[in-house]
This record gives sequence, structure tokens and C-alpha cells, in this order.
Amino acid sequence: MALRAVSRKKTVRPRRRISRPASRPSKPAASARSGWKGVILEYWDYLPIRDRSAVVTLHEGHTPLIRSVDIVRQFPEGVEIYFKFEGTNPTGSFKDRGMTVAISRAKEEGAKAVICASTGNTSAAAAAYAGRAGMCAYVLIPEGNVALGKLCQAMMHGAKVLQIRGTFDRALELVRQIAKEHPVTIVNSINPYRLEGQKTAAFEIVDTLGRAPTYHALPVGNAGNIVAYYRGYRQYLKLGKARSAPVMLGFQAEGAAPIVRGHPVENPQSVASAIRIGNPANWQEALKTRDESRGLIDAVTDTEILAAYRLLAEREGVFCEPASAASVAGILKLAARRMFKRGDSIVCTLTGCGLKDPDSALSQASRPAVIPADLREVAAHMGFA
Ligand SMILES: *Cc1c(COP(=O)(O)O)cnc(C)c1O
Repeated sequence: MALRAVSRKKTVRPRRRISRPASRPSKPAASARSGWKGVILEYWDYLPIRDRSAVVTLHEGHTPLIRSVDIVRQFPEGVEIYFKFEGTNPTGSFKDRGMTVAISRAKEEGAKAVICASTGNTSAAAAAYAGRAGMCAYVLIPEGNVALGKLCQAMMHGAKVLQIRGTFDRALELVRQIAKEHPVTIVNSINPYRLEGQKTAAFEIVDTLGRAPTYHALPVGNAGNIVAYYRGYRQYLKLGKARSAPVMLGFQAEGAAPIVRGHPVENPQSVASAIRIGNPANWQEALKTRDESRGLIDAVTDTEILAAYRLLAEREGVFCEPASAASVAGILKLAARRMFKRGDSIVCTLTGCGLKDPDSALSQASRPAVIPADLREVAAHMGFA
């Protein structure tokens, strides 16, 4: 009996065992196959797309909310700080959240071409999503003022890139005029669908924390994102998914701070090229957001921005681009004025990935030493002399 049982196992069961694993990879469970579906499908009820077949997605969103371990030490005991790191989006910035909605909507409407003015990240996202949708993307950028990584992206995704001899603000004026006279859809943040997509980052934060933070800090360029976040928080508040909405804290660069100054800036200057904007497209809405949330829009210097940029990379392990660090520079400045107290939670949006702007990184960190391929030399340079 025992012998027969063993022989049966040997002849029948092993065959099945061998055949099963081979078929498994081609037939994963539905959930494993789809994963995170991108912001439109994940937040379908809250976004203005109705035709599922028009959705153009690279599975953007679902970005990490990272708790601070080092910067938080400069704040009073009992304050929590989180970084919403948007650099993990498919093209490396939060612009993907808005672009998936803008391009999907343009596809629903039968658009064949899109156009944007950009300090870099909008063009990278527009080029990627338009390429995927089979549309032409035209990009106007200020000559010599776009970070290298972003320019590479727009070029590789097949956008028609035009460098104009002028500022971002002039590029946006031109885009508005071109779109009036020709059949191209604007995908700058004056496109209302962009902000609808961008508000999903606020949803994700509440979904993760289980509540809204006390404060939300972010860099301000054209001021679309600060408006979008607050809209998202307010919507969740209205739906009963959060019991409060945060105080919104926006930070412009000192040399490009029109909202803080109260007038446009002719020749905006800052190391933070993504927020080097002198005449923000969403100026009025940004003021409304600031006032309704009882928040503020302040300026931080390039020195403060670069200090936060390095601190984030060295002590938190998060490499963002300079503009992103303005949010952290801002709350550090407010902490020095004793604005925060025990029990407060602060979320800072880190808007884009550090690899976008290798020139800024190289100018900040010291270059590696070049030494002979010799054991003693290596040990000596390591300090083990
Ligand atoms: C676009 C952008 C900003 C500015 O966002 P606005 O909505 O224009 O205020 C900040 N940081 C990065 C990295 C960006 O790409």
C-alpha cells in the first residue's frame, strides 16, 4: 500500500506541479495586473472625464508621503512634518497629475495638437502624455532658462520645442495668442482641467493620514498648484472625508515674488527655475486661497532655498529640485519666528525630482576627487591614513 501511494505521488503529482508555475506569470490576479490605475481612474467621481476610452495615463500619482526625520528637529517637540514627494511621478514632477486630465479631456474633444509655455516640467509632461495620445505637442520655453533634464525629456518625447528669446511670461502671452488663432489646445495651468487633476494630491494626503494636516506648504510659481491643493482639501471637507482643511503656506523666490510684492516682476531671478515667474497666471485665485485658508504667501531667498535643497538630500534622503525646496525653506523661516506648536502637522510638497536639474546639483555638492587606483591612496582619502 505504502509503496503504491508513493509511486502514485511520483507519477501524477509532480507533473502538475511542474506545469503550474509556468502558467502563473501570464495569469496574475486582476489586482496585481492593474495596480494603481492613475489619478483619473482612482478618483473617477471627482474628475471631469466621462469617456473611459479617452483616458491617457502613465499611472501618475500615488506618490510617497515621507515623514521627516531630521528637519523636524528644528521644530518644537510634537510637530509632525511630511514630504509629499512628487518626483516619483512618471515624468518626475506633479505636472503629470494635471496633464493626464488635460490631455484626456483634449482627446475626448478630438484635439490633434496641444501647446504650452513652460519653465520645463509642464513641457516634459505635455510631451509625454501628448505623445502617448498621438497628438502633437508644441512647447515654448525661455531660451537658456530650462533645466537640462527637462529639456531632454521634451525632446525625447517628440515635442516641437521652440526656445524664445524672452521670459516665461512672454512665452505664455504668445501661447495664449496662438491658441486663439490656431487649432491647438493650451495645456498650461490656465487650462482648468490641469488644476482638477492636481487636486488629487490633496486627496491622497488625506487618504494616507486619515485627516488633513494643520498646514500645507508649497512653492509658488504660476500659483496653480496652491489653488489646486486647497480645492482638493475643500472638496474632501465638504464630502465629510476630512474634518478640516489646512492653512495654506505658499513660498515664492525672493527675486521672483510678484504676489508678495503686489506687482509683476519684469525680470524674475532665482536659482529655482521652476518658479522663476514674474506674472503668475493664477494670481487672483492664489490670493483667494491664501485668505480663505487664513494662510500666507511669503518669499524665501536663493540661499535659504539651496540650504533646504541640500538638507533634504543629505539628511532626509530626498533629492528634489531647487524650486521644490522652497516649501521647506519657507517652513524653516516660519519656525524661526515660532509659528508652529505641539500637535501641528505640516505637509510640504516637493514638486519635482532632483535629477531634472543636474547643473544645480553639481554647483552645490563638491566634485569627487580623482586619485590613483592605489589601496593606500584610497584608504588615505577615506581618512584611514
Ligand atoms: C510647476 C512647478 C512649480 C510651480 O507650480 P505652480 O503651480 O506654477 O505654482 C514648482 N515646482 C516645480 C518643480 C514645478 O514644476
